[in-house]
Amino acid sequence: MFKMKPIVVTDSATKRFRNKVNIANADECWEWNGTTNKKGYGMFSVGSRCVFAHRYSYVLAHGEIPEGLLICHKCDNPKCVNPAHLFAGTNKENIIDAFKKKRMSWNPVDRPGMQSDLVSGAEAARILGIGKYRIPRLISSGKLETVNAPNRRLITRESVESLRL
Ligand SMILES: [Zn+2]
Repeated sequence: MFKMKPIVVTDSATKRFRNKVNIANADECWEWNGTTNKKGYGMFSVGSRCVFAHRYSYVLAHGEIPEGLLICHKCDNPKCVNPAHLFAGTNKENIIDAFKKKRMSWNPVDRPGMQSDLVSGAEAARILGIGKYRIPRLISSGKLETVNAPNRRLITRESVESLRL
């Protein structure tokens, strides 16, 4: 299980945060107006670092995120930061659920142009700008999280992105 640093909520950051959200009705998606990453997730800078906007929103509404849990979207809209659409779960649960719903293929890395939640070791090394030989050590130290796919082990993109932040 990889760890993320806790998010520190401050009044000034929260004010900036609210200015970047299209607040809609309670049951609708509240889309992020600010910067997004390649997958469309909102990114927000707090202090000297950058966090996922939906994680900040979750912390604001519900308090600290239980250790090791990810904040997932019930609505599958990566730009959405409506706390009512967010839930805490493990990344593996989220990914296995997505495969069951056929939102993802077990062979994502072989489809060019498709953004997948799972990447190969070579792709993780490319994203992080490091040598491929360093990947097994990052996996064994728990910094990268893996999922067993048929015939191979893939790495969750979220754990790669969290190392890059
Ligand atoms: Zn939503």
